[in-house]
Amino acid sequence: MAFESTYQPEVVERAWRERWEDARDFHAPEPATAAPFSVVIPPPNVTGVLHIGHALNSTLQDILVRWWRMQGRSVLWVPGTDHAGIATQNVVEKQLAAQGTDRHAIGREEFVRRVWLWKEESGGKILNQLQRLGCSCDWERQRFTLDEGLSRAVRQVFISLHGEGLIYRDERIINWCPRCHTALSDLEVENESTPGHLFHIRYPFAAGDGGIVVATTRPETILGDTAVAVHPDDARYSGHIGQMLVLPVGPARRIPVVADAAVDPAFGTGALKITPAHDASDFETGRRHGLNAPKIMDDSAHLTGDVGRYAGMERFAARKAILADLEERGLLVRREEYAVPLGHCYRCRTVVEPALSPQWFVRAKPLAEPAMAAVREKRTRIIPEHWERTYFEWMENIRDWCISRQIWWGHQIPAWYCRDCNGARVSEELVPAMTPGASAQTTLRIAVDAVPIVSQDTPQRCPTCDGDRLVRDPDVLDTWFSSALWPFSTLGWPERTQLLESYYPTSVLVTSFDILFFWVARMMMMGLKFMGEVPFRDVYIHALVRDADGHKMSKSRGNVIDPLGMMERYGTDACRFTLTALAAQGRDIKLAEERIAGYRNFVTKLWNASRLVAMNLEGHGEPLEPALPVVAIEDRWILSRLDGLVRRVNRSFADYLFNEAASALYQFTWHEFCDWYLEMVKPRLSADGAAGEAARGSAVYVLRRVLSLLHPIMPFVTEEIADRLPGRGRHLAISPYPTPDERWADGDAEAEMTLVIEIVTAVRTIRGEMNIKPSLGVEIVLEEVSAAAAVLVERENAIIRRLAHARELRVNQGGATGEAATAALSFGVLRIPLVGVVDFAAELRRLEKDLLKVDTDAAFIEKKLAREDFVRNAPAEVVAKDRRRLEELLEKRALLDASRARIAGIIGASGERAP
Ligand SMILES: [Zn+2]
Ligand SMILES: [Zn+2]
Repeated sequence: MAFESTYQPEVVERAWRERWEDARDFHAPEPATAAPFSVVIPPPNVTGVLHIGHALNSTLQDILVRWWRMQGRSVLWVPGTDHAGIATQNVVEKQLAAQGTDRHAIGREEFVRRVWLWKEESGGKILNQLQRLGCSCDWERQRFTLDEGLSRAVRQVFISLHGEGLIYRDERIINWCPRCHTALSDLEVENESTPGHLFHIRYPFAAGDGGIVVATTRPETILGDTAVAVHPDDARYSGHIGQMLVLPVGPARRIPVVADAAVDPAFGTGALKITPAHDASDFETGRRHGLNAPKIMDDSAHLTGDVGRYAGMERFAARKAILADLEERGLLVRREEYAVPLGHCYRCRTVVEPALSPQWFVRAKPLAEPAMAAVREKRTRIIPEHWERTYFEWMENIRDWCISRQIWWGHQIPAWYCRDCNGARVSEELVPAMTPGASAQTTLRIAVDAVPIVSQDTPQRCPTCDGDRLVRDPDVLDTWFSSALWPFSTLGWPERTQLLESYYPTSVLVTSFDILFFWVARMMMMGLKFMGEVPFRDVYIHALVRDADGHKMSKSRGNVIDPLGMMERYGTDACRFTLTALAAQGRDIKLAEERIAGYRNFVTKLWNASRLVAMNLEGHGEPLEPALPVVAIEDRWILSRLDGLVRRVNRSFADYLFNEAASALYQFTWHEFCDWYLEMVKPRLSADGAAGEAARGSAVYVLRRVLSLLHPIMPFVTEEIADRLPGRGRHLAISPYPTPDERWADGDAEAEMTLVIEIVTAVRTIRGEMNIKPSLGVEIVLEEVSAAAAVLVERENAIIRRLAHARELRVNQGGATGEAATAALSFGVLRIPLVGVVDFAAELRRLEKDLLKVDTDAAFIEKKLAREDFVRNAPAEVVAKDRRRLEELLEKRALLDASRARIAGIIGASGERAP
């Protein structure tokens, strides 16, 4: 097939996506027909759009998957999306807001229907984008965390863990987002220290003068205080333990001073206000002392309950009002600058409020133990290994996992309550409207001691009293609960499917470290619990993609690189190759658009080289293999180098050293194959007869193997080229991956070619330095070389002369060479006689002129950089650019100077520069 002169990525990529799909090349056999290799994709959010992190993550997975598929394994790569509870709910809530309504107005059922509608119409775009990236997933086996099968698995796990007491309901302080109106797990809260104040506030004694000063960052919670605690050994307060204080603002409530060993006497004043319903450690203190836990904030963080004139105020407005009142009464003793640790909702950035709330929890410790043992015993390997320590640290300190969320989009908890059995413990409460104009709603309140009926399907009657007044728990499960089951739920669990039988445990999970705990650790726990086996043999953790300066990419910084735009501009293969080449273990990836542009040149180079080979095949037979025995040195050499490359690339992929595979492939293809081999073999490629046949056979053979080797990284261009070369059969995607072939290993040829390359390179360098035109044939004289090297030079004389553009190449047997440029080789000395080749005087004048220009330019920049005001005031990138330019000029200067000294030496002029 004819090669167009330029490679057209979009046309080729679209065609191959269709051809692979039509041929079902990526469909996994069920049951597996060979040793299995399986991967589950980290399911992107159904709201997601492909970003550079996905592109990296998916490219690395695809490399492994394609590599193993080409090795003949039965390969399954399961694609799918996550329903992404809060994120998706927020998207649809925004839509509703734009239509002037909200979810409460339309009700739960209608809201969930709208989310599904949104999902069908606009959700899951990211899967198409992954397809465009070339991901060879089994697209017929797409899963969604809320699809029917996965929902069944979720309920099954819930019921089972609940039955064992590993899921329980309790009233605890949880992280509450007043914007999203839901509880958040500790992992979903982003902690950040913010400049603020520590307020020192006097609580007056109920009897007599004076009082105790406490320090707090949240004065609005005073209204929920039920005690002030001091350390039992703190001499400052020992006389006051048991005395009563009065709240400094709000209703004149009396609270006791209690002694508690958990109080840190060094913090603030050593006296702590205790607000059991709004602080996790105060909650514990309150339990120890039998204190009440009055809630003083509603779900939107407005003050409520016994709070006097502050009722209905938003929390930060209440803080202001309370501080003003304290000030007026002279009870605000001090306002201290303080870095306040604040938790923010990871979805909406609202400051999280610790709140007392009945929630569902997973008891984590018993599940964490086997998950730690599995990594300790290397049943699951974490790569790079240093992440193991992070994993263990977190697992050792694991806390129970709050799994209930007060939103509507997700797996509703499979628990029902019988109103008859539970009496007032299940009640409806009228909640005032959040926004002006909206109507109040009734909310189901389920006390923590209400008895749940946990069931896979909706129960019709209460098993205890046979009553039919059942209500379902309104909460849904944390999104990560269903993703924790992903490696086995996607394969059909709880059914014992062939798919599960063949492909679990999966072979490798490829992910970034930011979801090591959210997801990886929890999959380990659930996989071991329900499958009795680890969910994956290897976990490969890749780095983050940052901008060229190492900054995190963010919209606000304006440094985001959009992979879809890059794929359009440079082709998908160039993007994939760039990410692979930069994916060194344990190092962040610094990505710049120029890198992608650079690797597009690589794709072009490969295309042009293939075109050259293909053109020379026209009019000849279709050779597929090198003719044996291989005679020509360049054929022997390239085949031997290819064999080394095959070994290196296979080893690198096996060790997850993606960048090393990319680098070896790049070096070989660009330099050894295109620059050296094709250059050397060119005249033979078009020749008739045995020599021509041999050249064509070797060239096609090496090229086809290079395409196979590159295929996992650059699937499109390689598949397209292979399809246009002789020997095409099955798609490259399902053709065998090259394995080492002893026939080609040829140490002699490699050693000899090293000498040839050394000679040619030395001549090219001298040509550059001496400004000798490439068309001007020179004479090459070698001296002090061994007999073996002399024989080689004799034998390969023609090739060396052609590549170096030399009239003559000889080994000097004694006798002077006259004025010559000299280069030291590893095996002798190379001279190029210059008389009649170079006009020394003219060349010297040219060099002097160039040196003068470089010196002037360098001096100008040096002077600029020496100016303090410039360095201080100019934008950093301008200064950096000048520094780079200066460096370049100094380098250039050194080169020019060396050439000048060389010529000056030859013609006996002074080594010093002319004034
Ligand atoms: Zn939020
Ligand atoms: Zn009942």
